[in-house]
Amino acid sequence: MKKTPCIICVAITGSVPRKEHNQNVPITISEQIESTQEAFEAGASIVHCHVRNEDQSVSSDPNRFEQLKLGLKKYCPGMVIQFSTGGRSGKGKERGGMLSIRPDMASLTVGSNNFPSRVYENSPELIDWLSSEMLKYGIKPEIEAFDLSHIFQAAKMYNDGRLKGKPYIQFVMGVKNAMPVDREVFEFYIKTVNRVLPAVNWCGAGIGKYQRTMNEWCIELGGHTRTGMEDNIRLDKEHLAPSNAALVNLTREICSKYARPVATWEQTREILGIPLKI
Ligand code: ZN
Repeated sequence: MKKTPCIICVAITGSVPRKEHNQNVPITISEQIESTQEAFEAGASIVHCHVRNEDQSVSSDPNRFEQLKLGLKKYCPGMVIQFSTGGRSGKGKERGGMLSIRPDMASLTVGSNNFPSRVYENSPELIDWLSSEMLKYGIKPEIEAFDLSHIFQAAKMYNDGRLKGKPYIQFVMGVKNAMPVDREVFEFYIKTVNRVLPAVNWCGAGIGKYQRTMNEWCIELGGHTRTGMEDNIRLDKEHLAPSNAALVNLTREICSKYARPVATWEQTREILGIPLKI
């Protein structure tokens, strides 16, 4: 039996890693476009984007997101563009100020939890506003589940119409002070999403040294997966990642180990139900 293609998402920059940690982390818009193009050519079909200021500090500037989107559409035609509405890059509604630029997707966290040195705060009011903006602009959310309760909250929002369409849920594991990378919990997450959201597609992201473990578990159990320097700046224990594409290549290798074809951008759009916007 032919196995389902695996969607590889590349999270190129994030809010945390800086050049001091790994000089290959793309920071400027042109570095981000170049890095994404290499990752796209290596097989990534979703790019998860944050933007930074010139001094590497985090930004939520809609103009930067717009420039990035224009470049990505030109150099990575067909790739699914996902903006982060995560909490490290702005406060309150600033986090969704760029949704009017209409990316294909945006991340959406539907509950709160702890991060390594702070609370990752997502109030019910902010979650409802972000999800309504996504509906208004025709953006598909990727639900970030940092905790089991987030899966139930997502199901509730799909059931009562605050969210619409085919759900796509990402299990984020290995963030310090949040859910660890635990195989039994991971399998329970899968069982639970399939029970409470029957038409769901799911993926997983592991942080730091757990990136590879999560990639392997997701690919083995039929899901999709995320890699990239936002979550992990190392190729292995001894070496820093030379590029985002190098991390995508590692993920491709795991796909071949489990005989999973890597999803093309066309297949990714079909699986997720995201038409190509002109
Ligand atoms: Zn992110």
